[in-house]
Amino acid sequence: MTGTRTFTMIKPDAVEDKNIGNILQMITDAGFTIKAMKLRRLSTEQAQEFYAIHSERPFYGELVEYMTSGPIIAAILEKDNAVEDFRTLIGATNPAEAAEGTIRAKYAESIGRNAVHGSDSDENAEIEGNFHFPVAEVVA
Ligand code: UDP
Ligand code: MG
Repeated sequence: MTGTRTFTMIKPDAVEDKNIGNILQMITDAGFTIKAMKLRRLSTEQAQEFYAIHSERPFYGELVEYMTSGPIIAAILEKDNAVEDFRTLIGATNPAEAAEGTIRAKYAESIGRNAVHGSDSDENAEIEGNFHFPVAEVVA
């Protein structure tokens, strides 16, 4: 059975470009319900921990620097088949390869500054949601 929740971030480039509203509109138009949401600025330690899985990749330092460069929106989203459907909505990591009409095709600047995060599995959706929200901050 596939899970009903995923986790997203609207990344610093999209916040700075004033695309929070546009992106949230696309998310809710696609049938996702927001179960928790906040604006926050990650510390270097928090960004390092969130992206620890990428710590050996050449882009890790740049990624942490970018993700701490300004505030982000963190949110838990609900929908049937949430993880897969959300990855379809955001498009490929590299906006040059993202399908037309996807969030990254519309709003991402580059493979690094790519506007949004989306969890890649049910397991990671839970881990990432818990990283940003105590249970009491998530709507039942
Ligand atoms: N990233 C990057 N360069 C790359 C690949 C990824 O800067 O060559 C950044 C980008 O912001 C991406 C994040 O690292 O969203 C995590 O990479 P992942 O492969 O998990 O892509 P995603 O799951 O976000 O599509
Ligand atoms: Mg990923």
